[in-house]
Amino acid sequence: MSERPRWDRIAGIVFDAVGTLIKPDPSVAAVYTAAARRQGVELEPEAVRARFHAHFQSDAVHGENGVLSTDEETERRRWRQIVVGVLPEIPEPESAFDELWEHFSRPESWRCFPDVAPALRALKLMGIELCVGSNFDGRLRGVVQGLPELASWVDSLVISSEVGYRKPHASFFRAACAHLGLPPEQVLCVGDDLENDVRGAIRAGLSGLVLDRGASGTLDLPQVANLTALVQSFSPWSVGRGPW
Ligand SMILES: [Mg+2]
Repeated sequence: MSERPRWDRIAGIVFDAVGTLIKPDPSVAAVYTAAARRQGVELEPEAVRARFHAHFQSDAVHGENGVLSTDEETERRRWRQIVVGVLPEIPEPESAFDELWEHFSRPESWRCFPDVAPALRALKLMGIELCVGSNFDGRLRGVVQGLPELASWVDSLVISSEVGYRKPHASFFRAACAHLGLPPEQVLCVGDDLENDVRGAIRAGLSGLVLDRGASGTLDLPQVANLTALVQSFSPWSVGRGPW
């Protein structure tokens, strides 16, 4: 499982979205806390953050095709359940859900990490095909279109609710390879989630790389601390890749 990617073979990359390329700004905890406050409920942002983390991790909502299957309606159900779980005190959970759903659909609610635009540009110039592959839902299309750092460089977007299966299901990674037009052995998946982005990708025959922005360095998986390091990993192999 800890095998390094074969950099000379990689012709396409699937990037996870949240935590890898983008993050919510303001934070999820701040946005949920404000939504509760609008309904007269005061909560500690740190408590909200811990609740969100717990409810986001619990994967109890599935589509009609079993574990890890999904579609747009399933994702709405998932997020409704998360909102109710994180903010059980509020009197009108449905209106909070509508507000929060809308909030996170807007590009201005998200920010790219500073290393994203330079890295995507450098990888594109090396001739590497770039795909965003995410367990976000259809709202991600509008978010990506509204963030120039992504819209300028990303070739394709693969979203679990459109594929029918969430990461780490092999069907998701097969769909991503199909979008890139490449066999799995030429595709690298990069993300901040060990199971969803890396172990699942490796099981499906792709290469996997953990983006560990905290740089703990203790994983038994290939990892980088930022996207600049990812670009540098390619550099010895970049000669002859680009348009020059
Ligand atoms: Mg992520």
